Amino acid sequence: MAKVHIARDGKILGSHDEHAVPALIALGEIRRTDHWWRRGMGSWERVGRSFDPPAPAPSAAAPAAQPVPRPQGHVRFTCLRCGNRFNEPKEVKTGSFLTELFYWAISPVAGGLYTAGRALSTRRCCPRCDSEQINDEPW
Ligand SMILES: [Zn+2]
Repeated sequence: MAKVHIARDGKILGSHDEHAVPALIALGEIRRTDHWWRRGMGSWERVGRSFDPPAPAPSAAAPAAQPVPRPQGHVRFTCLRCGNRFNEPKEVKTGSFLTELFYWAISPVAGGLYTAGRALSTRRCCPRCDSEQINDEPW
């Protein structure tokens, strides 16, 4: 490996492997205004004319890995009692189907009211423990 001599202000600072010069420029050990000479050269040359510091290393600001997109419009449920996580809560209507039939048998008005009331009061429960203490979280 060829040795190059580095001089600053007319004084020889030392000699380095030629391939190390760009790194030494980057470190500030060698200035681009310094001069260098290698055996066989007719005269000294400015470091900055012959060597360029290496390209800066890729910075930490490189684009980060894309986060995995989460499906939109989904709700995930968590049971506060047993900790079960589920996507589909168990839907439980209040009242009973038999009572509903009974009211329908009396009159369509009564049956309609009871059916509407059941639909409005549908409870969402944990499918594992039937607890209504569930927390829904969009994700
Ligand atoms: Zn549960």
